Amino acid sequence: MTQEHKTQKKDHSKFFIDFKSIRFKYWLSFIGFATILLLILWLLQIVFLNQFYESMKVREIEKIGYNLTKQYNSKHFKQTVLLTAFTKGIDISIVNEDRYITFPKSDNNVFSQPKSLPREYFNQYFAKLDKKTKPSKIFTQSFLGSDEIQLSYSSILGEKNGKIEYLLMTTPLEPVESTIDILKNQLIIISGLSLALALVLSFFMSNHLAKPLVRMAKSAKKLGDGHFDVEFTKGDYTEADELADTLNHATDELSKTLEMRKDLIANVSHDLKTPLTVIKSYGEMIRDISGDNPELRKEHVNTIIQEADNLTLLVNDLLDLSKVESELSHLQKYPLDLEKLARSVLNRFKMMEQYNGYHFDLEVKGTVVILADESKMRQVLYNFIANAVNYAGLDKQVLIKITETGDQVLCQVIDHGKGIPEDQQKYIWDRYYRVQKNHSRFIVGTGLGLFIVKSILDLHDFNYGVESKVNEGSCFYFKAPVFKDIKK
Ligand code: ADP
Repeated sequence: MTQEHKTQKKDHSKFFIDFKSIRFKYWLSFIGFATILLLILWLLQIVFLNQFYESMKVREIEKIGYNLTKQYNSKHFKQTVLLTAFTKGIDISIVNEDRYITFPKSDNNVFSQPKSLPREYFNQYFAKLDKKTKPSKIFTQSFLGSDEIQLSYSSILGEKNGKIEYLLMTTPLEPVESTIDILKNQLIIISGLSLALALVLSFFMSNHLAKPLVRMAKSAKKLGDGHFDVEFTKGDYTEADELADTLNHATDELSKTLEMRKDLIANVSHDLKTPLTVIKSYGEMIRDISGDNPELRKEHVNTIIQEADNLTLLVNDLLDLSKVESELSHLQKYPLDLEKLARSVLNRFKMMEQYNGYHFDLEVKGTVVILADESKMRQVLYNFIANAVNYAGLDKQVLIKITETGDQVLCQVIDHGKGIPEDQQKYIWDRYYRVQKNHSRFIVGTGLGLFIVKSILDLHDFNYGVESKVNEGSCFYFKAPVFKDIKK
């Protein structure tokens, strides 16, 4: 039932447009862009074409008139007039103050009277012209019973034979309506085509853009459901590739941390359970068997104490971790003598020298005072030495070397244990990481010790590392600047 309901719902959602989706937004901007472009085209071609054409014509005729007027006194004036009339398709005539058209002549008969211009036209063209105040004028006129509009230009040319001569130029303003009609039809086709093209293109492009996102959202959902083997697939374009890379990396890290956390819980519960079982059974043994036998009882009590110590170690590691991680842990840096610190830490391992056959050596060269937080550095040294003890070789030797090298102090903790394989060395500083996954009863550990060390040394900004060879031993070290007392 539920399945059916879900499917129905899904089918339904197909018909709704998601206004927030990348597809819709992309499509909208594409269409918007195409519409704006078309609108500009319409305005220029259709609405303003008439004005555009008229003002262009006016400017052209003004320029020609101005040039001709200037050339009135030149030798080739009449030739120029004829040539201009011919090439530009303009009617050009020269009229004198008696209204006679002196050029061009109406026929080739030199004796015939020149044609004269009707008075009303003459007045219309030339009446208000004045050499100084208004040497030329331009205007449009339409004629009754005709659609044609005529553009006229008139100007004063100068005097000839004691009579003033005028220039008259007329040209029809072609009606642009028919052109506009053609353009309109063309534009309708162009608009339709480009909108359709924009629609199709934007559909494909937005699909192309959204595809990797949709794919990755599906993978992320799987990840959210706990499938850590999910892969964010690359493809399509660089940004999607980068996103896929980042998400794959995050998935890796997440699954690693979860894996380690699982290990830790398994380890910690094992580590808690085993000493408790031992403590309980040794307690019972004391109660039932060795209570009256002082020697055996002492042995049993020692075992109980040792197991309790192991438990403390484990709990301490967990507590340290939360302390280092909490925001409250601020460094309190003071001058710190590493030799004194090492001696005091080694004191805690004295028992192991006495009872377990370990041997600790401390070598100090130079002044080994640094500026650091004492309690935190104590933890670093303690963890290094505890590891050296835990993973020491058969010789049970641990060497602590503290050396002043120029302006640095180098502190090394060296053992001859089983070492760490090179490919594992970069991971041992990670939280919960342990080289030996199958848990050994004899080595209590949480995989947190070196992570705590790393956090502390990072806080101090000290360099640190490990040099290790399998079956030869390890040398864990850190380097800190020598503290220089400026008061000295
Ligand atoms: P643990 O509590 O397991 O000791 P650490 O963070 O201190 O955790 O160390 C991480 C891992 O690094 C250990 O599990 C161990 O495998 C390896 N390791 C640390 N110190 C040494 C050492 N001195 N010799 C060999 N291996 C070591």
